[in-house]
Amino acid sequence: MMRRLPGVSLLLCFFTATGFAQSSPCSLSDHSEYSKKIKEFTTESFFSTELVDHLPLSSCVPAPDALLHHIIGAPDVLDYTKDINAYFRLLASKSSRVKVWSIGTSEEGREMLVAAVSDEANLSKLDRYKEITARLADPRGLGDAEAQKLIAEGKPIYWADGSIHSPETGSPEMLMELTYRLAVEETPFMQKIRRDAIVLITPIVETDGHDRMVDIYMQHKKHPDQPPYPLTWWGHYVAHDNNRDNLGVSLALSRNMLKTFLDWHPIVMHDLHESVPYLYIMTGTGPYNAWLDPIVISEWQEMAYQEIEELTKRGVIGVWTHGFYDGWAPNYLLSIANNHNSIGRFYETFGNGGADTRVRTLRPSETSREWYRSNPPLPKVKWSARDNINMQESAILFGMNNLASNGQKFLNNFYLKSKRSIEKARAEGPAAWVFPADDPRPAEQASLLNLLQLQGVEVHRLEKEWRIPAAQSGQKAGNDKEKDKEKSAEKPDADAKPKEEKKPAETIIPAGSYVVRMDQPYSRLADMYLDTQYYSPRDPRSYDDTGWTIGALRNVKTTRVTDLSILAARMQKMSRIAPPDGIDGQGKIFLIQHNTDNTLASLRFRLSGVSMEAAEDSFEADGIKFKAGSFVIRNADRAQLEKAAIDLGIKVHSTSASLSVTTHPLAAPRVALVHNWQNTQNDGWFRIPMEELKVPYTYVADTWLRETQNLREKFDVIILPPMGTGGPAGLSALLRGLPMRGDPRPWKNSGETPNFVAPGLDSTDDIRGGLGYQGLANLERFVREGGLLIAVQTSAALPVAGGMTEMVNVSDPRTMQAPGSVVLSTIDDKKSPITYGYDDKLYVYFRQGPVITVGGNFGGPGGGAEEGAGGSARSSGRGTASDPDIIQARPYEPPEKPVKRTPHEQELYVPEDLPDSARFAVPPKDQQPRVVLRFAAEKDLLLSGMITGGSEIAEKPAVVDVPHGKGHVVLFANNPMWRGETMGSYFLIFNAMLNFDHLDAGSATPATK
Ligand SMILES: [Zn+2]
Repeated sequence: MMRRLPGVSLLLCFFTATGFAQSSPCSLSDHSEYSKKIKEFTTESFFSTELVDHLPLSSCVPAPDALLHHIIGAPDVLDYTKDINAYFRLLASKSSRVKVWSIGTSEEGREMLVAAVSDEANLSKLDRYKEITARLADPRGLGDAEAQKLIAEGKPIYWADGSIHSPETGSPEMLMELTYRLAVEETPFMQKIRRDAIVLITPIVETDGHDRMVDIYMQHKKHPDQPPYPLTWWGHYVAHDNNRDNLGVSLALSRNMLKTFLDWHPIVMHDLHESVPYLYIMTGTGPYNAWLDPIVISEWQEMAYQEIEELTKRGVIGVWTHGFYDGWAPNYLLSIANNHNSIGRFYETFGNGGADTRVRTLRPSETSREWYRSNPPLPKVKWSARDNINMQESAILFGMNNLASNGQKFLNNFYLKSKRSIEKARAEGPAAWVFPADDPRPAEQASLLNLLQLQGVEVHRLEKEWRIPAAQSGQKAGNDKEKDKEKSAEKPDADAKPKEEKKPAETIIPAGSYVVRMDQPYSRLADMYLDTQYYSPRDPRSYDDTGWTIGALRNVKTTRVTDLSILAARMQKMSRIAPPDGIDGQGKIFLIQHNTDNTLASLRFRLSGVSMEAAEDSFEADGIKFKAGSFVIRNADRAQLEKAAIDLGIKVHSTSASLSVTTHPLAAPRVALVHNWQNTQNDGWFRIPMEELKVPYTYVADTWLRETQNLREKFDVIILPPMGTGGPAGLSALLRGLPMRGDPRPWKNSGETPNFVAPGLDSTDDIRGGLGYQGLANLERFVREGGLLIAVQTSAALPVAGGMTEMVNVSDPRTMQAPGSVVLSTIDDKKSPITYGYDDKLYVYFRQGPVITVGGNFGGPGGGAEEGAGGSARSSGRGTASDPDIIQARPYEPPEKPVKRTPHEQELYVPEDLPDSARFAVPPKDQQPRVVLRFAAEKDLLLSGMITGGSEIAEKPAVVDVPHGKGHVVLFANNPMWRGETMGSYFLIFNAMLNFDHLDAGSATPATK
C-alpha cells in the first residue's frame, strides 16, 4: 500500500514503494540535524543512552521531523492524533518493516492504531505467528512435543501502548521515533529485536482525551498570559479511570484493546505512563493479585531488573522499581495481559504535563535512597520533554531486546501459564462457577455472562439438572462465606445453646444453569472476577479498589463449585446469551415482575407515552407472585409492548385477573445529571449506563444551575454524582468552582480549541464560578417545589449542609479505612419505592465515606448494645459486676428495664418526656427521613476488600430518603454507579427516578400534601 503525504515528498525523491524490500538500495546516514537537536534538548547526559542520542537518516523511510517539522521531544509542541496516525501510515507506506491497521475508534470517532514492526520475513508471515500464539494460548489437545515445535517456530510479540492518560503526552511522540528507529537502524541490537520478535505499537490509547490535551497545551502556548484551561474531559466519559475499566469493559478503548489482545496474544503488553521521577518500572509493592500464575510475578521482576541494570550500567540515574502501585486489582489496562496469561507491565516516567522544559524540585520522599531505589533521583533538576523521551525509549528498547533475546523462554512460559490455567480445575480449583438457571435477574445474569465471553471466557449451559453429592470435608459446593453470613444475619442474637452441626445437603443445580468451567485457558480471569477478595490491613496501603466481587456487585447469583463431578455433566458451549423475553398469557392487563433488571428502566423510557403503574405491595395473579414495585400496564398496545420486551429481554405476563393491589403511576421523568468544570470523571460512570440503557438525561453544569432559577419547570430529577472531596473543603470547592478572576473563559470549539466539545459533552460561555450560593438556592427551591434531588457519596454533604434535610447528618469517618470494598447492606424499608424489586440484602460498593446518621439526638435510653447491668455501667457497691446495686434502709426496687430498639427505631425515637422546646424541633412524621438501605452489622459488613473501623458505618444508613417541601432529597453513602461494575445497585437510582413523585408510598404515615 502506497500513500504519499505532501510533507514528505521531498525526502523520497529516488525510490518508489516497490523498491523497499531487503535488497532495496536504501542508504543510511546520520540525521545530524536531528541528532544535534536531541543533544540540545537533553538537559543532562545521564538522561540518555547510546540507543537514543542520535537518529539515523534513511534515504527511503521518512524520519518523524519530515512530517511533523520538529524532532521528537522538541520543547513546546505536541501533535494531534490525526498527525500521529498519519506518520504511522507514512512509515507503513515507505518501509516494508512496518504494517499499520486500525483497531477501532473512540467514542468520538477518532481512530486507534496498531503498527507492527519486524523484519520483512516476519511481517510476511504475521498470520502464522498469530496462529502460533493463539494455539499456545489455548493448548487444549496440544501435546508438549508439538508445543515445543510451535515455540521453536514462534516469535514473541511485544505490544507497547502510549498515553492512556491524556496529560501524559510523551509516549505518543516517543513511539513515533521508536517505530522509525526500529524500522531503519542497522545495529545488532535493533536487528535482534526485528529478527527475533514482533513489536506492536499503539501510539495513543485515549485518542479523544489526547486531542483535548493538545488543544489545551497549544492554546496556552499561544496565550501564556491566560491561565491554562482545565482538562475537564479526558476521554468522552472518564479521565484517569480509563485505566480502571478492565473489569467493566465499558469504554471503547478497553474493548478495542481487549479485542486486539485476544487476536494477537502478545507475550508482553506495556503501558506508558508519566508521573513519578524519573523512571519507575512496574513491579509493585504487593499484595499481588492472588489469582495470577506465580510465573508472571517472576517475569515482572525479571524484566524490571534487566532494564534497571542496563540503564544503571550506563550511568542513567533515578531508575527504580517496587515502591509504587500494588499489583492487586485486575482492572487496569495492563490487566488485559496479566489476566490472559501474558505479561502486563508499565512505566512511569517523569512528565511535565506537556512539552515544557522546567526546573523540578523534588520532595525528600522522592529522592531518598531506598532498598528498591538504590540510585534515586536528584533533589533538583532541569527536566525536558526530550529527557522523558530518552528515558522511555531507552528502557523499552532494552525490554524489547530482552524479549527477543529470550523469546523461547518467554513463549514457553506463556504456554506453561496457559496449560496451568486449564489444569486449574483439577489442581487448585475450584472446578467451576455456576450461574443458576433460577436467578431472578436473568437479564443481568446474561449481561455478566456476555461480559465474560467478551473477555474470552467460555460459558456452557447444563442440559440436565445436576446433583452434587453432599460435601465430604472442605469440598463443599457453594459460596460458604456468604451462606454463613446469611445464617448469622438471620439470627443476630446468638443464643447460648450449642448449634447442632447440620449435615450439608446435596446441591441441586437446575437444568439450563450456566457453567464457567475452570479447565479453560482463561479460568483465572473468571475466578478472580467471581471470587471474594481479602485485603489484609497489614499490607501496604492499597493503590486502588481492594474488592470487586462482580457477581455480588451485579446482584447476580454465583456458586463456587469445588466438586469435580460437575465437569462431567452434559453441557453445551454457548454463544451470546439472551434472557427469556416476550409476552405470555391473554388479557388486557400486562404485568412485569420487578426484579431490578436494569432493562426495566429502558422499557419505561422507551414507552414513555404509555401509562404504567407500580404496585405498592406484592400480589398474586394467575398463581404468579409479583413483588412490590412490579409494573402494571393497562390497555397497552400488545404488539408494541411485545416488540419492546423482545428487544430488551423482558418477560411480560398478560392477564384478565382483577387486581386489588394499590398502584401509583410510574413516571418517565425529565432527568438532569450535574457536572462541574474541573473533573467530570465520576459523572462519566453515571452517563455510561444511562446511555447504554437509553435512560434519557440532560447533562448540566453547576454554573448553569447557578444561572437557572426555575429548575422545577425543566426537570423532575436532578442527580449530583460524587463531586469533589466532600467535607467542608469539598463543599467550599463545589460552591466556589474555578476562581472568578480574569476574563470569562468559554468552553467551546474554536480554531485554537477544535476538540473541546463533542456531541454529548457540554459547552458554556464561562466555566468560572461553580454552583455558588444562588445555585444552592435554586436546587433548594427545585426540591421544595416537588423535585427529587439525588446526592451521591461526596455530594451528599451539599443538601445536608445546605439545610434541605432535618434529622440527618453527614460526616467524614474518623478512623475508618475502606479503600473501595464490597459491603453488605440490608433493605431497611421494604415499602419504600426505592427498594422495589430488591430482596432483603444487597451488596454495594463503598469507598471511604461519607458516614450518614439519622436522628434528632433527642436522647432517651436504649438502642445501644450495652444492655444489662455490669461492667462500668453500675456503681461501686455490693456483689459482682452484674449484681444489682442494693441501697440500704429501703426496699429494693429494680431499675427501669432498658428498652431494646433497633437502629431504625432508635433513629426516629422521640422520648415522651421531651421538653416542649425540644419537641418543637421534631419535624412532623411526613417530613422525617426514611432510611431505605442500611449497612449490615460490623461482623457481616465486609464481603470483599478491606475495611478497618467498620463500626463507623455498621448499621448506619446507606441510602436515606428525606422529604423537603413537596419534594425529596435522596442521599447515598455508597456509590451505586461505579466503573460499570455495580449493576446490582443501579436500580436504587432508577426506582427513585421512576417513583420521584410517589416516594412517600408505603411510608408509615402517608403524606398529606
Ligand atoms: Zn498514567
